[in-house]
Parts: sequence; structure tokens; C-alpha cells
Amino acid sequence: MEIKALQIKLKQLETPSYRLKQALRSYYQDLLGGWEEISTWPKDLRDACAELSWSPLTLIDVFESKEPASAKFLFETKDKLRIESVVMRHKDGRNTVCISSQAGCSMGCTFCATGAQGLGRNLTAEEIVDQVIQAARWLVASKGRVTNIVFMGMGEPFNNPDNVFSALRTLMDPDAFGLGARHISISTCGIIPGIQRLAKEAPQVNLAISLHAPEQGLRARIMPIAKAYQLDTLMHAIRDYLQRTNRKVMFEYVMLKGINDKVENAEELADLLTDFRHLAHVNLIKYHATNSKYEPSNQETRRKFANILKRRGIAVTERISFGEEIQAACGQLASR
Ligand code: SAH
Ligand code: SF4
Repeated sequence: MEIKALQIKLKQLETPSYRLKQALRSYYQDLLGGWEEISTWPKDLRDACAELSWSPLTLIDVFESKEPASAKFLFETKDKLRIESVVMRHKDGRNTVCISSQAGCSMGCTFCATGAQGLGRNLTAEEIVDQVIQAARWLVASKGRVTNIVFMGMGEPFNNPDNVFSALRTLMDPDAFGLGARHISISTCGIIPGIQRLAKEAPQVNLAISLHAPEQGLRARIMPIAKAYQLDTLMHAIRDYLQRTNRKVMFEYVMLKGINDKVENAEELADLLTDFRHLAHVNLIKYHATNSKYEPSNQETRRKFANILKRRGIAVTERISFGEEIQAACGQLASR
């Protein structure tokens, strides 16, 4: 919803101040679909606002898959860029929406479909929030609600920090969407200023670091950004973050066959995390083949890798794969 334009409009029409509150509640909380649905408004007011856009994103298509249950949303922005979000429906009743922060991404990670696409542009705060609102509206039909939000769709959130932090405030604001910070996670490829800002401005929001390699040389080969933010400075920033927030950090690790999945990589990863292992959690992600450069590690290798970490006292999970068959899993989002 274009709040600034609405404020101006309501002022021009000399409406009482509670009209704005009603509009915001209708959009963020009652999840209504448009101006015409605000039943507490007189018809002439609804008509007068009809020229303002209700949603900055147009929902083009929804692709659903059954096991595990998930849905991919394809949106179009006003300037005709396509972006995607994913809703993952967990068996325990939680519903996680995975949202995009940019159309495309400039980071060029060699295993990621979004990275191959390059950057279109940053999404506005309203476009970021609208993905959550539209997912929440869609969930209403099955009496579900959004319980978790992850910034793990298209784009690097900390390359669009002002809009991402503004979206975070709206998503957490009890007068807007009102989800608790601890139910929101941001994933970054390691943009240090963003990590520092998160510690200051939203310390309760969960941080996930896309690590993917325990050693600088290997990391720089698979993620070009590691040349700008080197592993030792990144680890320093993470220690700083831990000291400030005392929150757990999740380390994401995409398992690439023969590249980063060897026994020595696991040992090196354990060495890297060992002195703050009580605050570290490793998530081994199955690689979703997006190009011919890499192959996923097999299950046996993944298990072995996980066991080494466990033996070293490091918490590790293997991410269950959501939405693979609808091209909605990690790193597969890339609409043109
Ligand atoms: N740009 C941010 C957030 C979006 S990517 C980041 O990189 O952290 C979300 C996660 O998907 C990251 O951990 C990313 O490394 C992972 N990912 C990217 N491509 C993938 C692929 N092809 N298979 C599995 N995971 C992938
Ligand atoms: Fe961008 Fe994340 Fe993909 Fe890397 S993995 S290219 S940072 S979206």
C-alpha cells in the first residue's frame, strides 16, 4: 500500500485521522483485497481512493506442490519486473514465507540461479512487505497464517539495507503486520555493514550466514563476494555480532559434490566455529542443480559431513527440501 500517497489523499479529502488507521488495518491485519472491501468506509471515500494502488505487486501465478506442501508466488512489479516468493507449510502448523529483497542479485554466487540473472533493481519496502501480505491473504483460505518470515528468496538483503530495515519495522510493528522479531530471519552472503546494522537496529531478528566454505580460497572461488569481505574479517564481524546480541547464528552450507563436502572441509568448518559452538548452528543444504557446473553431494557424504560436526559438538541440521519440483527451493528462484 502506498501510505504516503494515501496520507496526502486523505488530507485533501479532509477525512478524520482514524480513516488512515482503518485503511492500514484493512491491509495489514484484515488482509482485505482492495479499497472496495473496506466496509467501514463510505462508498464515496472508497471510490476516491480507488486510483491509489492497493498492492504494489500484481500476483501473476501460484504454483503449488503437495509433499512437502509449498507454493511459489510469481509477482510482477509496476515496471514489469518479475519476482518470486515461496510459502512453506510445515507439518506442525507453522507457515514460513520466503521473500525476495531484490529483483535478481548482483553477487554472482556460482551455484545460484538468481545470481546468474544479475541485478534488476532493489525492491521498495512496500514491495518487500506486500509479498508477506499477499502470502498471508492466500493462507486465509485454508485458515493458515504466516508464522515465520525468511529473507531467503531473490536478492541479497544487505545490498538493499534501507528498504529491508524499513520493511522489517513494518513487519514487526504491532499497528502494521505485527510479527515478533524472533520469527523473522535474514540470510546474507556476508555483507559486513549489514550484519553490524542488524545487531544495532534489530538484534532480535535471526541472522543466517551463507558460508558454504570454511576456507578463504575455496570460498572466493564459489562466491565472488568473498574477495571483498574476506573470511577472516567476516568471522571477526560475526564474533562481534555474537558479543553484542548473544543470539544464535545459523551457518548455511550448500553441499557441492567434490567441491566443499570432503572430510577435511568438515574438520576445517568445525575448527572455524568451535570456540563459539554454543551459539552456532550449521544448516547443510541440498544443492538444487541450477547449472551444469556442480552436482549435489550424495546423502552418504552429507551424513558423514554432519556426523563430523556433531562429534565436534556443533549443532547441525539437514534442510528438508521444499518446493523443488515447482522450482521454488533455495537458489532456484529466477524469473525473467
Ligand atoms: N542472498 C542471500 C539470501 C538469498 S539466497 C544469501 O545468499 O544468503 C538463500 C540461500 O539459498 C543461501 O544460503 C544461498 O546460498 C542458497 N542457495 C543459493 N543457490 C542455491 C542452490 N542452487 N541450491 C541450494 N541452495 C542455494
Ligand atoms: Fe545473491 Fe544469495 Fe544467490 Fe549469492 S546466493 S547470488 S547472494 S541470492
